[in-house]
Amino acid sequence: MNNAQIVELGKKYVMNTYGRLPISLVKGQGARLWDADGREYLDFLAGLAVNSLGHCHPKVVDALQQQAATLLHVSNLYWIEPQVQLAQVLVENSFADKVFFCNSGAEANEGAIKLARKYAKKTWGSDKYEIITMEKSFHGRTLATVTATAQPKYQKDYEPLPQGFRYVPFGDLKALERAISPHTCAILVEPVQGEGGVNLAEPSFWQGLAKLAAANKLLLIFDEVQCGLGRTGKLFAHEHYGVTPHIMTLAKALAGGAPMGALLATDDVANAFQPGDHASTFGGNPLVAAAAVAVMDVLLNDGLMDNCREMAAYFMGHLRRLQEKYPFITEVRGLGLMVACELDRPGADIVANCLEKGLIINCTAGNVLRFLPPLIINKADVDEAVAVLEEVLASVVAADAANAASVADAASKANTFSAATAKLVPTGGQSQ
Ligand SMILES: *Cc1c(COP(=O)(O)O)cnc(C)c1O
Repeated sequence: MNNAQIVELGKKYVMNTYGRLPISLVKGQGARLWDADGREYLDFLAGLAVNSLGHCHPKVVDALQQQAATLLHVSNLYWIEPQVQLAQVLVENSFADKVFFCNSGAEANEGAIKLARKYAKKTWGSDKYEIITMEKSFHGRTLATVTATAQPKYQKDYEPLPQGFRYVPFGDLKALERAISPHTCAILVEPVQGEGGVNLAEPSFWQGLAKLAAANKLLLIFDEVQCGLGRTGKLFAHEHYGVTPHIMTLAKALAGGAPMGALLATDDVANAFQPGDHASTFGGNPLVAAAAVAVMDVLLNDGLMDNCREMAAYFMGHLRRLQEKYPFITEVRGLGLMVACELDRPGADIVANCLEKGLIINCTAGNVLRFLPPLIINKADVDEAVAVLEEVLASVVAADAANAASVADAASKANTFSAATAKLVPTGGQSQ
């Protein structure tokens, strides 16, 4: 099938929950993708931070092929060798002592919420259940995680929502302190907010957060579903801030594209779960666990995080140069290869224009261009991406000028607007 045929079939049979771009990607290798019409793309999105090793990394493909031919699935009523090996690697490279495996980021966060409540009730009493989360956060789409996600646009029309969540602005220590009540048991936060616009908080926020948690006996839950596993140049993003959680969730990049989530915790906290308390049929099954063991091996031993930091500095340098040239870029920010350009206007048109020129990027929070390239990119890839982006940004300037001219023209005819107001009229574009 070609792009048009796949799109037509999809529109007919697949639920309309995504604003999809009109192509189908059918093949990938490294940082390159090909669509069903044979067009090649440079991938600066990596399946939303999933394909961190690039597409079809030989070690991951090999692990999957071998495991598929050996044993695809057994239930968690038995011990699973690749799952046990994966848990060992995660524990030996993190603050955690124990791991629970599931299938997605939302499921990992759902498990984290349950574990925090269970631990708190057992340890501190039945009135401890409330979890504080951050505005502009993203924790998933199940009812509990969409409630933890403090963004009304994701919650609208799904009420009644589960109880026991409170929201504060991300990075606002005073608001956080005020939000702590006798019922609070945990704080759930992304060390770098992804979906909400690649937002960072000051180091002092993280130090203060850790102090507040200790002083008030609260569990710290870090959602590293997007920012974890090397994405920011360290294995876990919280390592940048010198703070340690009691519970951490992972997913996206964990199994290199096979669906997997994980919930990590210290022994003390993890022990709140006993047999029968939580479960997941597919969680950590042999196939995905074997893929994840290979992913962790590459991540830890093949220099990917060094490359991530180096490419991040190189890419950010270019983006800062673009910002000086194109004032409608209001901010360039990021950590490692989790990078964003905030615009003074919607970014969807820029994403579509980049796609047309063979570059895959994303727009989040309506006006934030988000770049999540695979951690294996090289300087030539960055140069190519920046060249395409600059071409598209230049066309925005040209469209702006044409727009301003025509508005000014109309204004002078109607004699109501000044040329200065004409400049404020935005070009077309749709928020996602
Ligand atoms: C993507 C994401 C999730 C949800 O993961 P799913 O696998 O889509 O359920 C949760 N938290 C963060 C930070 C994410 O980026």
